[in-house]
Amino acid sequence: MGKNITQKIIASHLVSGKMKAGSEIGLRIDQTLTQDATGTMAWLQFEAIGVPRVKTELSVSYVDHNTLQQGFRNPDDHQFLRTVAAKYGAVFSPPGTGICHQLHLENFAKPGKTLIGSDSHTPTAGGVGSLSMGAGGLSVALAMAGEPYYITMPKVVKVQLEGELTGWATAKDIILHLLGLLTVKGGVGKVFEYAGPGVATLSVPERATITNMGAELGATGSLFPSDAVTKKFLAAMGRPEDYVQLKADPSAAYDEEIVIDLAKLEPLAAKPHMPDRMATIKSLAGLKVNQSAIGSCTNSSYADLKAVALMLKGKRVKPETDLFISPGSKQVLKMLADENLLQIYLDAGARILECTCGPCLGYGGSPMSAGVSARTFNRNFEGRSGTQDAQVYLVSPQTAAMAALNGAFTDPATWGEAPAKPVMPKKVPSIRHLFVFPPEDGSGVEVLRGPNIAPLSRFGRTPDVVEAGVALKVGDDITTDHILPGGTHIMSLRSNIPAISEYLFTNVDKEFVGRIKQMDGGVIVGGENYGQGSSREHAALGPRHLGVKAVIVKSLARIHRANLVNFGILPLLFVDKADYDKVAQGAQVAIPAGKIKPGKAVEAVVDGKLKVKLTNDLTAKELDIILSGGLLNAVGASR
Ligand code: SF4
Repeated sequence: MGKNITQKIIASHLVSGKMKAGSEIGLRIDQTLTQDATGTMAWLQFEAIGVPRVKTELSVSYVDHNTLQQGFRNPDDHQFLRTVAAKYGAVFSPPGTGICHQLHLENFAKPGKTLIGSDSHTPTAGGVGSLSMGAGGLSVALAMAGEPYYITMPKVVKVQLEGELTGWATAKDIILHLLGLLTVKGGVGKVFEYAGPGVATLSVPERATITNMGAELGATGSLFPSDAVTKKFLAAMGRPEDYVQLKADPSAAYDEEIVIDLAKLEPLAAKPHMPDRMATIKSLAGLKVNQSAIGSCTNSSYADLKAVALMLKGKRVKPETDLFISPGSKQVLKMLADENLLQIYLDAGARILECTCGPCLGYGGSPMSAGVSARTFNRNFEGRSGTQDAQVYLVSPQTAAMAALNGAFTDPATWGEAPAKPVMPKKVPSIRHLFVFPPEDGSGVEVLRGPNIAPLSRFGRTPDVVEAGVALKVGDDITTDHILPGGTHIMSLRSNIPAISEYLFTNVDKEFVGRIKQMDGGVIVGGENYGQGSSREHAALGPRHLGVKAVIVKSLARIHRANLVNFGILPLLFVDKADYDKVAQGAQVAIPAGKIKPGKAVEAVVDGKLKVKLTNDLTAKELDIILSGGLLNAVGASR
């Protein structure tokens, strides 16, 4: 039987495991990307692994998240990232050059290659046929050190695109439609592979809008074929040699299939506060819009922003509606400048922002209290915009521009005839000279570490018997935001584990940090679904720094469980959930860690008398990692 594209790329990068959906596979990784918010920790981890030079074909360190906040912390991080990249052989993308995914798509992503990035929207590069996945910082560090990346062999979903978009419908509406259909859980364990005659009608940036928001489906990745459109894009970007054709075999099989008729789509919006709460713009007509924000790694390409310029030409946005425009890269900005399109934004009353993430993660540009914001971004979780009660709608650039012009959502039937899609120039101005390429020999480079860069903590082996007090007992549905709250003042401490650890559980129990320090470590007891939410590895690393040795819970969220393993914390489950009630905060627990076997129960002793059965769902490899004191130690031991 023939292969689909996903299977072809996996087969050519397979290091271990069987290509059977659900089995663990190890993949050779060709490229990595990091961004500043997660990158400082990934690079500290890379240094700790002790490899003198990155071993991937290409690793790029982007700075796009924390760029304009007050104080020394961001610039300290940037200098660290610039020098560490030079020393170890990675490309550095300075702050303001652009958003990592847009820049990577334009300048580095290659069809048929594997890419992992310490950012959940890394699958954007699937727009040129690169199998691209978001990963934890430590996994990226290990890939840079030449280690395989382990994933569960995904199911492959064929998304058959029929027909062509018409009227005001855009690529954003394709992925919003799919999100409405499948929900934010619909892509877990799957790669979405696009096929059918509709593919050829979409440009690479349009494809990338779709693969970018595959992350909101929870998908492992999303892929487009590499075809004549890809070839033209790579040639325009000045790298025709990167083109290879990639297509599924005619007899390829898929695990699932979805058909979308593009001609039937219309402008959509994801309503507050989830990317899958779909409504037509028509149904929202009349809703006042206080702010429109155009940009982010989802919709900040030349074609997106030119389409907006054409709509704004000769017009003025409503003074009561703020309009932000953040170009995705300096390349995009230069193209707009070359065609005098920036004048149009200025005359229309728009605010032009730096080429960074900015408002997407609430770093500037927050909506007014209870304000309605039409954003071309990919996430609209409550509070993400920086205004807790804001109502964020995820829309296309065209919908956002029209909302700014009218001060409200209006029926697309009243917008007039949609202009033709802007076509990218055949030759795009290069910004290659703005990237800092590493010297051949980086051994003489001094890595600059300002006070915001704390040395990485190393942890000891797990003792045969873990004897510790219960430092904290929490209930069900504790999220990574409960464990480590967000916010710019906390997130700017990401490179400093001792400092960021001071904020652990502060919104749950303000005494926790002081208590666990006094106890010299401990265990945490929790209810169902402990650790749900983001992949934030600081939510495991921080507790480990404070001496948390085990979490004992009724059930665990998948990604947090993986992070606990990586940092050497035992994730244990009550065999009898009723025992949760018997283990109080402050109790003393003795866990026979050395006797734990994969999937088997052991007996822990509480307060010297009560016996409580605890089990686990760990593999033998994961258990080894924990007992070694975490993945860094385990990798060190195997070298
Ligand atoms: Fe993440 Fe938004 Fe930046 Fe994209 S633009 S990488 S979603 S913060």
